[in-house]
Amino acid sequence: MAGSLLPVAEARRLIVDDLAPVPAETITLADALGRVLRADATAQVFHPPADVSAMDGYAVRCDDIPQVPRTLRVVGESAAGHPWRKTLGAGEAVRIFTGAYVPAGADTIVIQENASAGDGSVTINEKPQHGRHIRTKGKDFKNGDVLLKAPRRLNARDIGLLAAMNIPRVSVARRPVVGVLSTGDEIVLPGEPIGDGQIVSANGPGLCAFVASHGGEALNLGVVKDDPKALLRIAEQVRHIDLLVTSGGVSVGDHDVVKGALSSAGFKATFHKIAMRPGKPLLYGRLHDLPILGLPGNPVSAMVCAILFLGPALARLQGLPGAAPTTISARLGTALGANDSRTDHLRAALSHDGGVPVATPFPLQDSNMLANFARADVLIVREPFAPTADAGASVSVIPLN
Ligand code: AMP
Ligand code: MG
Repeated sequence: MAGSLLPVAEARRLIVDDLAPVPAETITLADALGRVLRADATAQVFHPPADVSAMDGYAVRCDDIPQVPRTLRVVGESAAGHPWRKTLGAGEAVRIFTGAYVPAGADTIVIQENASAGDGSVTINEKPQHGRHIRTKGKDFKNGDVLLKAPRRLNARDIGLLAAMNIPRVSVARRPVVGVLSTGDEIVLPGEPIGDGQIVSANGPGLCAFVASHGGEALNLGVVKDDPKALLRIAEQVRHIDLLVTSGGVSVGDHDVVKGALSSAGFKATFHKIAMRPGKPLLYGRLHDLPILGLPGNPVSAMVCAILFLGPALARLQGLPGAAPTTISARLGTALGANDSRTDHLRAALSHDGGVPVATPFPLQDSNMLANFARADVLIVREPFAPTADAGASVSVIPLN
């Protein structure tokens, strides 16, 4: 496979199929945001736990009020957390508040706007409907209901639901440990002295952040020179992590040492080149048990490849399917020429024209231009050999934020 240009979807499938989910661990809800649920979550309580009032007003028996106005005796009060524990009799009402248990015998809530309070009594001014404003026990969910299925990445709504289900701890995928290593004689870390011919590393910090934002634990391995021995030493040191991501040195220049160095130690490449732009050189394979993803050095290429391949790889490691990034459709803001044989990913701004999303590609698309990447809202995806497209034509875009 190495040598030929692989389609993007095929490359992603090869990576995802090669990776197995990491083991699960049990954590508290406070730590669960963004983690991937690995066991179905079953409700431990009813919600609501009993019939409760949805409004402030009076709990009554509907049959007591065949016509209005009707005056009832107020025999007690039920507030949230303070139920009235007796049974409502004929001609009686209980003052009730939102969230309070509906007393036995009552079958309807009359909202306070439809009643006038008297001295120990209440006059109902509107004919009530049976069952109105009562949230019945278990109407939202019942004890034993399976409400969240694994695998699923937990969001804030899920955390709230799990809490309401009375589940304080959940089984989630352990955070996959992903080593991030920048390669290149010219690379220095931000804040270090910048020598002659050197440039500051964007990839290390950016990729570590990418890993963290996709549920992984980034192991920052810093920078290694274009030196096969040094590279292999590091790969050897991290042989037990879940994935090693490198940047730079995967092209075919004299100083692109990554593939050669790894191969000399037994690395088996699954593929080495992808039919895409930015980022044609992309290496994936295994050094013994260690999966390695070799990203191109140009920082936009590295990050676009992270979006297309590292994101799905991290998802897979956490037990998710590892699908392609979500796309939405938009109208083109400016015309585009025909595409060549590589899938193109164009940085673009997203605006709205009467509610319709419009993606306007930036005129400059050089793969080292990070500032316009940060300004971009979407990547326009153009399939290989896509014909000329006029402004207004429909295109697929990957939202970046
Ligand atoms: P390479 O893939 O090693 O040939 O690198 C391609 C281009 O990306 C070169 O201009 C490198 O200087 C640049 N580059 C490589 N690594 C990084 C990095 N970590 N941060 C920013 N730019 C990089
Ligand atoms: Mg290099």
